[in-house]
Formats: sequence, structure tokens, C-alpha cells
Amino acid sequence: MAKNFDLVVIGAGPGGYIAAIRAAQLGMSVACVDDWSDEKGKPAPGGTCTNVGCIPSKALLQSSEHYEQAEKHFEDHGIEVKGLELKLDKLLGRKDKVVNENNQGILFLFKKNKVTYFHGRASFNAKVDAGWSIKVDGKDAEELVAKHVVVATGSSARQLPGVPFDEETILSNDGALRIGSVPKKLGVIGAGVIGLELGSVWRRLGAEVTILEGAPEFLAAADRDVAKEALSALTKQGLEIKLGAKVEEVKTSGKGVKVEYEDASGKEHKAEFDKLIVSIGRVPNTDGLGADTVGLKLDERGFVEVDDDCRTNLPNVWAVGDVVRGPMLAHKAEDEGVAVAERIAGQQPHVNFDTIPWVIYTSPEMAWVGKNEQELKKDGRDYRMGKFPFMANGRARALGDTTGFVKILADAKTDEVLGVHIVGPTASELIAEAVVIMEFRGAAEDIARICHAHPTLSEAMKEAALAVDKRALNF
Ligand code: FAD
Repeated sequence: MAKNFDLVVIGAGPGGYIAAIRAAQLGMSVACVDDWSDEKGKPAPGGTCTNVGCIPSKALLQSSEHYEQAEKHFEDHGIEVKGLELKLDKLLGRKDKVVNENNQGILFLFKKNKVTYFHGRASFNAKVDAGWSIKVDGKDAEELVAKHVVVATGSSARQLPGVPFDEETILSNDGALRIGSVPKKLGVIGAGVIGLELGSVWRRLGAEVTILEGAPEFLAAADRDVAKEALSALTKQGLEIKLGAKVEEVKTSGKGVKVEYEDASGKEHKAEFDKLIVSIGRVPNTDGLGADTVGLKLDERGFVEVDDDCRTNLPNVWAVGDVVRGPMLAHKAEDEGVAVAERIAGQQPHVNFDTIPWVIYTSPEMAWVGKNEQELKKDGRDYRMGKFPFMANGRARALGDTTGFVKILADAKTDEVLGVHIVGPTASELIAEAVVIMEFRGAAEDIARICHAHPTLSEAMKEAALAVDKRALNF
């Protein structure tokens, strides 16, 4: 006998598990099916984000940052460290513990909110009178029937054509988060968020890291000033970033990998690495979902086609997160998940794509929201710009990290904040103020008039806002 629910959510990543919880809060009977298992085969909800994405990468970035601080920067504070030693097993073990705590946290939240969790793989069976029949294969094999279905199956790393991930030498983000010993030479293909973050982790731990990026520009999506400052800082730290590098051949050989590429000037190069991380984008997870069985429409790249409200072409079937158009970010997936649950409940929520923040957790961190300067120029928008360097911020000096700046772009006439771009310490936290201001369609003057605690890095935001009107006080 099939089990009946108001809503079945397929996938327990940030899009799926948050949709399930919100729907349960709104009084629906909800099931969430997810196939992720930990190394012991136990349920590991949380998707890419929790298991092989946001959470473990930030755990490793934190540990490796501590190591580099102790190795290179404690001395500046008058602290001498003798016999510094890296215990990689323990470092990776800590990361696994953080991941596991998050997995357990989600299972707890499911119980608390009375979401029924199924550990297995779900696929569409058929349209039935009561809604949709969903088949669950695996440990909790079952047939479910629901009026509404949310597809939140996420994405997986894209492989280089003809070069499959073996997670030993050719690594996706998964293998790159559990390399057992620090490689001497590490190659990374792709200087996007994932390549830069994971490249930084292993460089800090002692690897010689070379990143090959096919595009001629560094971080094309970022404001040019931010990209320039970050490229200079990351290069100084020892990350070798080769732009305009077209990878032609990748061959594993014995215990390493050989990569042939052409540089921006057309010159051929051969490089050898112990390991190679391939971070060239991600593909949506729709294989085996039964999309064909029920006629769920996918686009030519395999993403589930949805409208602005995350409705698919099928009645009462919705899709959110990485498996649909838009930025592949956990907070975008979550916001879509909440919005869909509320829409099903008859509410009228809205996800504002114009105020979704972007963050890169390298050192310096980069964060931005809204339009960058090159986009405003292209749009022919009249704007004013205010910039404040962390060099002139007392807290940054006390921290010993004065790299970077806050840059605010505001409409020339109305002063409405159009974009905020930060490169520097805790950019990931500072950007929240900019998102709030933009969500309320506030002006640079509003930020300038808000009292910011002293001494804090957030004062750089206030000073950048003052600088829009050419009246910064400390620079
Ligand atoms: P996912 O998190 O991919 O979850 C989908 C779940 O569905 C998975 O558990 C999958 O196994 C399961 N599933 C798939 N098909 C089925 C099926 N048929 N039946 C049952 N279960 C199924 N984003 C940020 O915002 N900040 C970051 O700092 C950040 N860092 C990242 C670092 C790395 C290394 C990577 C790879 C990604 C990072 N991301 C980050 C991106 C973020 O992880 C994704 O945007 C987010 O996880 C998408 O959430 P989702 O719910 O759409 O899908």
C-alpha cells in the first residue's frame, strides 16, 4: 500500500530539506527522500552543501587558515611557534565530524517538524488520481503518493570529456576534500569559486598549486577592481594562476597526471602533477528521476525547466536549487525551497534574484551583491562610486589583515545602492548589511547615517558609503 502525503520532496540538500521543513511548519504532511549515505552507509541528509560542498570546504579553509597563520603570521604578533606540525588525519577527521553534526542536525529537524525521511532513491512512477506516485528504491523502499512534488535533486561535478573522476588522481570536489597526504604538486583546472577555495586549502597545507583557467579574465563575474585585488593577493601567497590556458590533454601516468595545455599566446606546455582537481562547473542531477516517464520537461542542458515561481510543466510538480536555472548557491536553493512551500500553502512569497549575495571564501574573502561597475557601464547607468580601503580601518590594522576594500555603487541621481563589492577580511559577513540595504532599496546615505560600532570592519562599509558623496572621514 502506498503511503500518502501532501508533499514529497526529492532531495535533502539545502533546497529540499528547507522546503520540507517549511511545508511541515505550514501544516502539510511531508516526506523527504534522499539517497546520500556516509562512509558507513548511514543516512547523510544535507546534499552536496553539507557532505561535499559548503560545509566541509569551510571547515578545511578554517583549519588550513589557522595552520598558515601559525606558520607565517603569529610571529608578527610576537608569538613564536616551535615544532609546528600538521596532523592531516586529525584535520580531515575534524572536517568529517563537522559534516556529521550537520547531517544529524537535519535528521533532528525532520523529527522535530514531523517530516518523514526516506533513505533511498526516488523516481516518478506515474500520474495518479491523488497526484503523483513516487517510487523509492534502496533501504527504505516504498511507494509514495503525493498531491505535490518538489524536485530538489541538486547537481554533480562536471567531468572533462574522456577523463572520468577516479577520486585518487583525478579529483572532483568530493575527492579534493579528502586527499590523504598533502600532494607535492597539485593541479587545478578551473579558477572558479570551487577551484580557488580548494586550491587555497592545499596550498596553505604545503602543496605547490597551479590553477589552469581557460578564460582570459580572472573571475569574469566579479567587479574588475575586486578581481584585480584578489588575483594579486592570491598570487602573492603562492597560488600560480594561469589565465587563458586551454587544456588539450589529460593523461594519468603511474602515480601522477600529465596535462598538456596551450597558453594565452598559443605556446604549448606540459605539466605534471601528483593530483588534479577538475572544477569546471556542475551538471544537474536528473538521471534516473523518471522525467521521461511522466513528461517532466528538461532544457537542452538537462536542467528541470521552471518558471519564475519554480513551477515545472507538470501540475503540482515544482523544482528548486541547483537542478534549475540560476546561480548554484545554497542560499538561493533554500530561498526557493521556502517560497515553493509557501506558494503551495496559498501564500505569495517572492525570491529577489537581484539581491542574492555571492561569496568566495579565499583569503582575502570576496563578496558582492547587485551590479558591478562593468555592468553599470554596459547598461549606460549614471552612477557614483565610493571606495574605502581596509588599510585605513583601525580594526583591520589590529587584526593584521589590511588587504582589500569596500566599494559601493549608487545611482547618481537617487543615491540608491546598486551594488556592493568587498574584498578583504570577513567580506562574507560584511555583505549582509549591503543585502539588507538593497532589499529595502536604501541609499548610500542611509548606510552613511547608520551608527556602526567602533572599532569594527563594518566601519569600512560606512566609510565607503560616505565616499560615494566624497566625504569619507578616515581616508
Ligand atoms: P544538493 O545540495 O546537491 O542536494 C541534492 C540532494 O538530492 C543530494 O543529497 C542528492 O544525492 C539527492 N538526490 C539526487 N537525486 C536523487 C534522487 N533521484 N532520489 C533521492 N535523492 C536524490 N554554495 C554556497 O552558497 N556557499 C558555499 O560556500 C558553497 N560552497 C561550495 C563548495 C563546493 C566544493 C561545492 C561543490 C559547492 C558549494 N556550494 C556553495 C554550492 C552548494 O553546495 C549548492 O548550491 C547546493 O548544495 C545546492 O543545493 P540543492 O538542494 O539544490 O542540491
